[in-house]
Amino acid sequence: MAAIQRARRTHEVTNALYRIDAAGGLAAAEAVDASVASGADPGPLAGVPIVLKDNICQHGQPCTCGSRILEDHVASYDAFSVGRLRTAGAVLVGRANMDEFAMGSSTETCAWGPVRNPWDPDRVPGGSSGGSAAAVAAGAVPLALGSETGGSVRLPAAFCGVVGVKPTWGRVSRRGLVAYASSTDQIAPVARSVTDAALLTEVVAGHDPRDSTSKDRPVDDLQAACRCSIEGLKLGVPREYYGQGLDDGVRGAIASALDSLREQGVELVDISLPSTDLAVACYYVIAPAEASANLARFDGVRYGRRASADTAEEVVRRTRSTGFGTEVKRRILIGTWVLSAGYVDAYYRVAQRVRATITAELDRVLEQVDALITPTAAPTAFRFNERNDPLAMYLTDVYTIPPSLAGLPAISVPCSLCDGLPVGLQVIGRRFDEASCFAIAAAVERARPPLPLPPLWSSP
Ligand code: GLN
Repeated sequence: MAAIQRARRTHEVTNALYRIDAAGGLAAAEAVDASVASGADPGPLAGVPIVLKDNICQHGQPCTCGSRILEDHVASYDAFSVGRLRTAGAVLVGRANMDEFAMGSSTETCAWGPVRNPWDPDRVPGGSSGGSAAAVAAGAVPLALGSETGGSVRLPAAFCGVVGVKPTWGRVSRRGLVAYASSTDQIAPVARSVTDAALLTEVVAGHDPRDSTSKDRPVDDLQAACRCSIEGLKLGVPREYYGQGLDDGVRGAIASALDSLREQGVELVDISLPSTDLAVACYYVIAPAEASANLARFDGVRYGRRASADTAEEVVRRTRSTGFGTEVKRRILIGTWVLSAGYVDAYYRVAQRVRATITAELDRVLEQVDALITPTAAPTAFRFNERNDPLAMYLTDVYTIPPSLAGLPAISVPCSLCDGLPVGLQVIGRRFDEASCFAIAAAVERARPPLPLPPLWSSP
């Protein structure tokens, strides 16, 4: 009950949640109590409240993806990771607001209003999983699941001062995650500490025979990894991530985190990833292309709302033109364009080749170093309406997109405050080597002075 009250209190200011499920949460908590009373193992997340981004299917709950077109949609099944959470004893208390269909970097495209940053309610929480990150940062819940396509958990984690994990693509099943760009989509954990994030990642990771892209690989003991020494590791510092456009305060914060890593015995290696500046353009061809195909299913016939009209064609036209917001329409148009007969070679196929180059470059560098250290984002949380120009918004993701295109694991961990706003440091690891990412992120967390609580924190 305390968790529900906290969620309600923080929601009033942050608008982090689409729905608070008090009845479902209390029933789940009582079930955990009963299993403890009967002597059964209640699971590693017994009684821990969690919210899910509103694009992760939870049986019987709304799943709107922050879009009017899915306003009336109720999920008819549990996502794979939701099943894992239930088995682990977690208490699902709400649905977190998000940019519409996970397209955005500020949560300003959410049809249910923007989410506010708990550090400063005049600023964005980052996106698209802004509701998940803001709910954790504000103390509503200790854990949340978000989703990642190009940085949607790492960016809000950085802006809200929490930990965000993008696992290797294929590490966590995507069954039950509403598709945006399937080749980079991921379920992604959010937590207050690196160890909590490791525990949540362990719970949701692993093979799902009903997702053909989920990989059958053993999951490392990630909580143990958080306690490992990082002495002797070689960490790459890619100079393209420290160039023009990086906020001076962020640069200073990352530099002192790098010093503290050096003091813990790592070797820092200056490296170059020359294709980095192609990543945003490449992503904004591939992601809209996949989105235009994935979102074709929202036609007013199968899911959500349906506009009334005389002909089937008109139903589809009206449903889509009134149901989707501006940014989603823009992406569908771009995607349809780059896949159309006359342009597919000029845009989509070229972007695929660029993606292969970026991936090969990252894989090659990661043969020489154990992981890469970069800022998660060039700025700290910006003000509402500050990035009205879509291109300016797209560029917010310049540091998070390359590992997304390459399918590599990455973590954003808070490293300090700059003018009262959190700064995130990104660790990018080798494919399926989440363990090293957690070890390094935990070392960053150990070395920094404890962060104060955000002004909108709600204590029990
Ligand atoms: N901001 C990026 C986009 O709008 C990434 C979003 C995401 O990771 N879902 O596509």
